[in-house]
Amino acid sequence: MDDTLLQVQSVSKLFGEVQALNNISLTINKGEIIGLVGSNGAGKTTLLRLLAGVYRPTKGTLQMADGTTVEAGRHHLGVVPESTGLYSRLTAWENIRYHSRLHGVKDEESWARTLHYATLLDMTPHLGRHTKGFSRGMRQKTALLRALAHHPSLLLLDEPTAGLDVTSARTVKKLVKTLGEDGKTIVYSTHQLPEAEQVCSRIIIVHNGEIRADGTPQELLQLTGQTTLEEAYVTLSSDKARSVDVEEQPAKGWSRMWRGFFTPTTPAAGGDEDE
Ligand code: ATP
Repeated sequence: MDDTLLQVQSVSKLFGEVQALNNISLTINKGEIIGLVGSNGAGKTTLLRLLAGVYRPTKGTLQMADGTTVEAGRHHLGVVPESTGLYSRLTAWENIRYHSRLHGVKDEESWARTLHYATLLDMTPHLGRHTKGFSRGMRQKTALLRALAHHPSLLLLDEPTAGLDVTSARTVKKLVKTLGEDGKTIVYSTHQLPEAEQVCSRIIIVHNGEIRADGTPQELLQLTGQTTLEEAYVTLSSDKARSVDVEEQPAKGWSRMWRGFFTPTTPAAGGDEDE
């Protein structure tokens, strides 16, 4: 069975003269938890916004598996943007309900779902409060509840744990894992490598608008010959590193192949070196 959910093909995004993304290709499969990791300005938010249909690519295409555009598939999407965009004069629940109604979901249905997830996020006592004055964590959690209330199959989360205290971050991470286990597909950006390692089944390293690596945490370690994801990340985001998709490489000899990437005369990405 084909598990493809969404395909990004040769996508570039320019803002005036700023090349935010340069010729990105990737396939998002059902049930994956994908971590987008990269330095400030790497292009993570731009990629998430393209996936959400907020931006159109300057070049290339984004297509759902059924052949439709991401814009047409928006009702399948749950988004937690960088800035939560909550209405401060509404309560948390009113914010969620307003959003759910826009998606055509009945109040009883979104309330039941909200109550379920609010319990997991320790947010139940705050659902009736106006969001003005909410802490950063409470805002993030409300935005997450808002994104979940219409039962999306694909969640796009922009740094959902940024600025959260340890306990809140743990709660959010746990929920993301549970959602993945329940079959949701999740793409989320983070600067926290240990978090990406704990939560994600796949990590995409974005650097200067390009995908530098794409694979499981274990594959990234093997690819670079490093023992920690932090070291692997530093190696992969160095100026010498070239784009590489782990899934397209042979299963053996990662380290040897990786050394080959630094040598311009080595044949295409070391792909012919497999033992
Ligand atoms: P951070 O980790 O700091 O949030 P990021 O990886 O999410 O960074 P993006 O926000 O995607 O990075 O930005 C990528 C590049 O595109 C940056 O150079 C940024 O200044 C530029 N950029 C993004 N959005 C716009 C915009 N609307 N107008 C102009 N430039 C933009």
